[in-house]
Amino acid sequence: MTDTKAAQLLHLRGQSLAKGDPIAPPITLASMYHLPGTPGGVAAYGRSDQPTWEATEHLLSHLEDAPALLFPSGMAAISAALFATLKAGDRLLVPSDGYYNVRKLADQFLGPLGVKVVERPTTGFAEGGFEGFAVVFIETPSNPGLDLVDLAATCAAVRGAGGLTVVDNTTMTPLGQRPLDLGADMVVASDTKAPGGHSDNLTGHVATRDAALAERVRSWRTVAGGIPGPFEAWLLHRSLETLHLRFAAMCTSAETLAPRLAAHPAVQLARYPGLPGDPSHNLARAQMATNGFLIGLTLKDEASAERFIETCPFLRPATSFGGVHSSAERRARWGDAVAPGFVRLSIGTEPVEPLWDALKQALDGL
Ligand SMILES: *Cc1c(COP(=O)(O)O)cnc(C)c1O
Repeated sequence: MTDTKAAQLLHLRGQSLAKGDPIAPPITLASMYHLPGTPGGVAAYGRSDQPTWEATEHLLSHLEDAPALLFPSGMAAISAALFATLKAGDRLLVPSDGYYNVRKLADQFLGPLGVKVVERPTTGFAEGGFEGFAVVFIETPSNPGLDLVDLAATCAAVRGAGGLTVVDNTTMTPLGQRPLDLGADMVVASDTKAPGGHSDNLTGHVATRDAALAERVRSWRTVAGGIPGPFEAWLLHRSLETLHLRFAAMCTSAETLAPRLAAHPAVQLARYPGLPGDPSHNLARAQMATNGFLIGLTLKDEASAERFIETCPFLRPATSFGGVHSSAERRARWGDAVAPGFVRLSIGTEPVEPLWDALKQALDGL
């Protein structure tokens, strides 16, 4: 199914071209449009209408099988999803060990507006039930711990309790996991990561099959005004055309490297859903198409972790992940509740054996 989608994606635009049109979409720079007389049915103004966004949203919608809206970052997409669904007095559930800016957004901005924010660890997310929550925000696999939430069971339970689910699908992309098919009301994602994939562009998107929710998110984007630039949209369009190749290579390499890393004496613990003994393994097989390209490594201490990252020539010491260049960082430096020697490793598109040689040599040197 994923292969068919990837093949179709490359020809979506081509099927509606007229003779002489460029195969690649043009970058349209426009704040004003020719709009005589009564507005309606055509582009009106650059904050609400943008042909280059539409080209990119066409690809994202195809991948999600749902209307998709483009945002200038993953956090802009997440903000849109939450501000479009919550009001004063509502209760919001967020993971206590997911991407930390979501908790910051909730605590610093939604809380003071009267939203009651509750945090729970990803492991045991369903404990305590979902009664009384207007919105349940799910991140699976969680970043950086790579723990999983059972999407089908959780989305059904939240719906049964009258709430909405928003699933952050950043770590897997629509090629690796399909939360809307598993019952989620909304998907949010940072396309800055693997979808962009070249460490040069920030974008994000929201997708939902609920027309009223989609309209509300669109309205939030138009009135709040946090909109993507046409060039950034175009760059994502270009990147999405190779996502299937990059994602497959990254996941296949991670699958090869994870057991080797786990067996290295300098590694105290390796977390990867593809490892048979991993706590996430069975659920990953049930709800994910691949095991992803992120690997969590616990090394002895902070110094070992920093040395590993610094001495490996094929690792960029950088925050963020999903790029063609393998990268790594010690997440405790941002205050994530992980061991000081915990390294989040993002496997890139380097051919796997030279990459393994470099990783092994850096670990051997610790
Ligand atoms: C990076 C990330 C985000 C935020 O995305 P930006 O594009 O940096 O705003 C949100 N969720 C997860 C899981 C992420 O990894």
